[in-house]
Amino acid sequence: MKLTVEDINVKGKKVLVRCDFNVPLNENSEITDENRIVGSLPTIKYLIENGAKVILCSHMGKPKGEPKPELSLAPVAKSLSEKLGKEVIFAADDNVVGDNAKAAIAEMSDGDVVLLQNTRYRAEETKNVDEFSKELASLADVFVNDAFGTAHRAHCSNVGVSQYVECAVAGYLIEKEIEFLGNAVNSPVRPLVAILGGSKVSSKISVIENLLKKVDKLIIGGGMAYTFFAAQGKTTGTSLLEPDYIDYAKKMLDAAGDKILLPVDTVVAKEFSNDAESMVVEGNIPEGWMGLDIGPKSIELFSQAVKDAKTVVWNGPMGVFEMPNFAKGTNTIATVLADLDATTVIGGGDSVAAVNQAGLGEKMSHISTGGGASLEYLEGKELPGIVCLTDK
Ligand code: AMP
Repeated sequence: MKLTVEDINVKGKKVLVRCDFNVPLNENSEITDENRIVGSLPTIKYLIENGAKVILCSHMGKPKGEPKPELSLAPVAKSLSEKLGKEVIFAADDNVVGDNAKAAIAEMSDGDVVLLQNTRYRAEETKNVDEFSKELASLADVFVNDAFGTAHRAHCSNVGVSQYVECAVAGYLIEKEIEFLGNAVNSPVRPLVAILGGSKVSSKISVIENLLKKVDKLIIGGGMAYTFFAAQGKTTGTSLLEPDYIDYAKKMLDAAGDKILLPVDTVVAKEFSNDAESMVVEGNIPEGWMGLDIGPKSIELFSQAVKDAKTVVWNGPMGVFEMPNFAKGTNTIATVLADLDATTVIGGGDSVAAVNQAGLGEKMSHISTGGGASLEYLEGKELPGIVCLTDK
């Protein structure tokens, strides 16, 4: 267990918070999706209400270690000021820890908020160089990590800095990720069912291996299913296929027995297009056809398999959900999960987009905020941005 903001006394302390303000901007530097800013508010408000001097930092985009005005965090300061109903002072130092930041922090009263410039303006940031970590730490007494999206990377502003402060604790967002993703994988209420989909077996090998050890059932859909079809000796037509992984899929199927559940029917199309001629086939995929979604019998099979689950983890769509004609498998699975009496954890990436597209976000127990980070969590890896926090 890691310490969280509620475990420490922050009154009068300078608290550096690593947020995830990596928000999309349009050509006029206007924020086009404020979800990440909204997500950061509970931790920031808690610190303000408890009398901390709140110093915020984050990266945005990839300025590659130098100042890029189009990737300045200035628009974030404006948005935060509006949402918090109080001025967030923006310290516009190209070197992040500069004269503006130091002067603004020296003048802070309890409950004030200062935002530093994009941490990736500094080349040291992504290399976790001690010098920049120490500069960041020199501004604060305590460090809070609330950026799950970068927790799988060891950078100065989320890992290095933690060594040079009194203590390093989790904010509410990270706490929730540890609680839901961590519990789902390490101490789940059973039966635990995992649903994996998406395009490739190769990108999810470690997830498959780790989850197979832990789950009661592993459902595999999406493009990755066809490499498993090939391993069973089925034909796959022009579907996505990774020939180099057929042997691996065979080994997995042999080892897993009936733990792995594959689609029994497939929506196939003549070409990769929403308007392509399509039909449903069972078993083999005929020559000249490609699988783009799971079929109705598979939807039924998978729905039955999760019916009695107490924990479900889902990563990766069941088909090409971006095309409405091939979104039914993914959308129906999302609807089934939304109505389950179980802990439902959506593990980042495209499955999050699919759940939100179906308007079902509110009905899931937890939607992970980090694509890469949640995948590494599901692989059973320790995330440096969490490991570095102080234990309870
Ligand atoms: P991933 O990033 O590996 O989770 O893959 C997500 C992508 O997989 C989405 O863009 C889907 O369109 C794609 N995908 C899912 N099923 C299929 C399929 N049967 N054929 C091709 N692409 C697929």
